[in-house]
Amino acid sequence: MNLLARLRGTDTSLAQETSDIEPVNSPGHDDPSLSEGAEAQCRNGVTASLKWAARTDVGKVRAHNEDSFLALAPTFAVSDGMGGHAAGEVASAIAVSVISKNAPAHADDLLLGAAIEKANAAVIEGAATGKGKPGMGCTASAISIEQNKMAVAHVGDSRVYLLHNGALVRLTHDHSYVEELVDAGEITADEARVHPSRSVITRALGSDPDMYADHFTIDVSAGDRVLICSDGLSSMIEDSQIEAISVSSATPQAAVDNLVAAALSEGGYDNVTVVVVDVVDDGVIDQHRKRRLRRFVGVGLVLLAICAALFAVSVLFVRNSWYVGVNGDVVAIYNGVNANLLGHDLYTLSETSTVQLEDLPEALRASLHEGVVVSSEAEAKATVKSYREQIKSDRERAQQVADKSTAGTETSQDNPAVAVSDEGGE
Ligand code: MG
Repeated sequence: MNLLARLRGTDTSLAQETSDIEPVNSPGHDDPSLSEGAEAQCRNGVTASLKWAARTDVGKVRAHNEDSFLALAPTFAVSDGMGGHAAGEVASAIAVSVISKNAPAHADDLLLGAAIEKANAAVIEGAATGKGKPGMGCTASAISIEQNKMAVAHVGDSRVYLLHNGALVRLTHDHSYVEELVDAGEITADEARVHPSRSVITRALGSDPDMYADHFTIDVSAGDRVLICSDGLSSMIEDSQIEAISVSSATPQAAVDNLVAAALSEGGYDNVTVVVVDVVDDGVIDQHRKRRLRRFVGVGLVLLAICAALFAVSVLFVRNSWYVGVNGDVVAIYNGVNANLLGHDLYTLSETSTVQLEDLPEALRASLHEGVVVSSEAEAKATVKSYREQIKSDRERAQQVADKSTAGTETSQDNPAVAVSDEGGE
């Protein structure tokens, strides 16, 4: 576990002036009358391809709301502050403000993660320069949706869920002590939700200048619902309840209202913040999908044409190739190349000769087994003919040698003096 793990929920009496911080859509800084009070806030909006709503609530136990959210399409984020009053909310407000200013215009998860890392530096600087208090920190979970792509970047235990085809999937992996216990198989996810150390997080903004954000990009489609929340929701109700409420809520506004209400009804022990974003079909996504399909089909056709051309060239090459090889015990002529592809021979037998392998030199026999490549059928026939003539020539030469040897033996027998003279010369 990271040694920088912190406990959240501590509250101190130190008050700090934070009026110079103007976070985007963070609670307490923009029309708090929208909801139940200064510690609660609700927002919603719509763009050409997104419908969204966000709600944050102090809960039923805490005196202050240290959560902040960002809802500035196409970027949405939730940040859960730590360090107590005049610290946690400052940290989370700085985080969403910096993320907002540095979020990429496109669904680029690397840049979204970099925005969170800049927010980390800003929180550290804020503590050092008196905007907050030493030791303040926060989580940050952010998304950016562009057509059918969604970039996700996060640090801490504020979560991102995706509701797709009625099924809720958690996209982020908590940087928390209990998540490590779950990963190690020591406790279950349900046990983690009520574990006494559930608030200990192992990676957060505000302490380590080298902190990094996890980030990735996934496909989304019209009809998908994305949910970002602080642990004030995920620690109060089970994922199955989050799924049921998300499925049954007709609009993003209804979803955030119902989810926050569910967390409060379970006790509301923590600040609870929920952002829900619906991906809607205004034709843009469909057009993009069709463009991608056309591009995919086009690339496929080009590859198919290239493969067909290569196949045709290969067939042509094979059909115009010849070699002299072996068929049983005799030399033969083949059309093609002496190989096979996926179990299919790349040659056909064209002609079998009467030239016996055993009449040829051993080195040539080995070459014939490998296949002696020639440029044409005519050259193949000429090669076989040369073998035949070579054999015939060798036989004639051998016969001549044999004849001379026989003649010499007969002469010696007719004239023994010669033979005696020869023996004497040795
Ligand atoms: Mg919390």
